Amino acid sequence: EQALYIVATPIGNLEDLSPRAVATLSSVGLIAAEDTRHSQRLLSHFNIRTPVWAVHDHNERKQADAIVQRLMGGESVALVSDAGTPLISDPGYHLVKEVRRAGFKVVPIPGPCAMVTALCAAGLPTDKFVFEGFLPAKAQARQAALEKVRDEARTLVFYESPHRILATLQAMVEVLGEGRAMVMARELTKTFETFLSGSIAEVLAEVEADHNQQKGEMVLMVQGHSVSVADDDDLDAEGVRVMQILLESLS
Ligand code: SAM
Repeated sequence: EQALYIVATPIGNLEDLSPRAVATLSSVGLIAAEDTRHSQRLLSHFNIRTPVWAVHDHNERKQADAIVQRLMGGESVALVSDAGTPLISDPGYHLVKEVRRAGFKVVPIPGPCAMVTALCAAGLPTDKFVFEGFLPAKAQARQAALEKVRDEARTLVFYESPHRILATLQAMVEVLGEGRAMVMARELTKTFETFLSGSIAEVLAEVEADHNQQKGEMVLMVQGHSVSVADDDDLDAEGVRVMQILLESLS
C-alpha cells in the first residue's frame, strides 16, 4: 500500500541513519527533500539511487499537490529534511496535512531529533518540557517571546543559530534572570559535541570567552520557573500570608 514516509535522518553522525530508514529511502519511488544537494550526499553515502525532489517552505503547497498525484498513481514517497526529524522546525506540515486529507497513510520512520538528543543528556527536568523552536530574529520580538515563557514551570527548549547565540543568551539574562540553570548542547553526535551547563550568566560568560562555543549547531535548555514564597514579587502581602498558613498546615 502506498504511503508518505516521514524519515528522520542524522543530525551529524551518519551512523545514526536507521536500517529501516535506509530500506524505506531505497524502496520508495520518490524522495522529497528540503535541499536536494544536501540530501544527495547522504543518499549517495548509502548508495540510495531514488529520485529526489525539492520540497521547501517556498514550494511546499505546489509540491504537496504533485506528491498527492504520485500517491494516487500508486507510488510511495519519503520526506526528509536536511537533518533530524522533518516538521520539527523544518518543512512538511502542509504536505502531511494534505496527504492525510487526500486519504493516504502517513508513516513515521523515527530517528534523530536535536531537541530530544539534547534534552536526554542535559540533566534538566524532562518529565515536562516546552519546545519553543527558534526565537524571533529581531531583538524586540525575541524579548517578547521570552517574556511569554518567563513564568513557565516546565523546562524550556530552544533551537539557535551561531550568529544569534550571544544576543539570545544576553536576552535570556535580561528576561529570565541570570541565576536560572541552563544547558547549551552544541554539535550533538559530532566530533566536537559539547554540553555547557551552569546559570544563564555563567553559560553566557563561557560562550563570550571562547569563540569556538559560538560555532556550529546548538540547542538551549533552560530550567523552568520555580515559584517560592520568598522570591515571587507578584504575590502581595496577603497572598504571602495565606501561602504561609497553607504551607504550615501541610508540614
Ligand atoms: N529537524 C531538526 C531536528 O529534528 O532536530 C531541526 C532542524 S532546525 C532547522 C536546525 C536546528 O536544530 C539548529 O539550528 C540547531 O538548533 C538544532 N540542531 C540540529 N542539529 C544539531 C546538532 N547536531 N547539535 C545541536 N543542535 C542541532
